[in-house]
Amino acid sequence: MMSRSACSWIAGLMVYVGLVLNTHASPTVSLVFAGDTVLDDTAGELIAQGGDPFAPFATYLKTADIRIANLECVVSTLGQAGDKVYTFKAHPRVLPVVKKHFDAVALANNHSGDFGPAAFADMLQLIAQAGLQHVGGGMNLKQAHTPLVFQRQGLRIAVLSYNEFHPRSFEAGHDTPGVAWSEDQQVVADIRAARQQYQADLVIPIMHWGWENERQANPRQRFLAQRMVDAGADAVIGGHPHVTQDIAIYKGKPIVFSVGNFVMKETDNAYQRQGWLLKLYLDKRGVTGFETLPVNIDLDGLPTVATETTSPCWTRGEKITRVCDPRK
Ligand SMILES: [Zn+2]
Repeated sequence: MMSRSACSWIAGLMVYVGLVLNTHASPTVSLVFAGDTVLDDTAGELIAQGGDPFAPFATYLKTADIRIANLECVVSTLGQAGDKVYTFKAHPRVLPVVKKHFDAVALANNHSGDFGPAAFADMLQLIAQAGLQHVGGGMNLKQAHTPLVFQRQGLRIAVLSYNEFHPRSFEAGHDTPGVAWSEDQQVVADIRAARQQYQADLVIPIMHWGWENERQANPRQRFLAQRMVDAGADAVIGGHPHVTQDIAIYKGKPIVFSVGNFVMKETDNAYQRQGWLLKLYLDKRGVTGFETLPVNIDLDGLPTVATETTSPCWTRGEKITRVCDPRK
């Protein structure tokens, strides 16, 4: 049994150590990114019945400072399906449920234009009406390339979003609505502008890229990711391959090439039914570390927290990622 004076001495020491450790630390902000989120089909029906496909992640998302999902469908009642194998359209009733868990949606992907520019423009309005923010899309080219800047605990964090998976016809024009296309020089210019023009402390591009079902990033992804970091990106987050891919640490910055699916009915192998929620920790100097929460997606496309899987994590200064269990 410890004496009362020993207890108070230890408590005092702990406070002192805490103060010393915090002297030079800038505040840490957390940012969660969820991969491909399609809210038609079963997820849409669940919401129509008053359900919530994100419910298993409510606590995890609530504790993050910034929450972004890749919205891989159009949300509108307008438009005709384009000439594609898969087209995804969700009812506007899904947006309040998205808003419950997320701050913003990334729109630069190969499905947000599935029902034409009028439906896309309608979605932009509906997103704003729901109190959500968006990035990677707009009523014109300039808007689509404008960074979304979050201000949290004195940090300005700029997020950009680009698609480079066909069709390119979803791209915004000078006066027409659509998404931001990943044209290398433009991406580099946007990253620089985020810092200079928008006074961002950190810049994080979200990419829709890579080949489906490939569990290693391809040379094109690696090339552009390095260019983005060279231009000033603090991290690169990717998706679209429907599976998780390898992670690179380049010049001390994490490149998470693909977080895989999140809410996705159309899956045809087990790897497509295992994604990550990515959580980045940020301070004034960049990303201090990240963790990945493993996600299981059932045959209805609905996600739950995976219970028996480990996944990659990383702390600033490490050359490669480690394996962690973020549930512990
Ligand atoms: Zn996609």
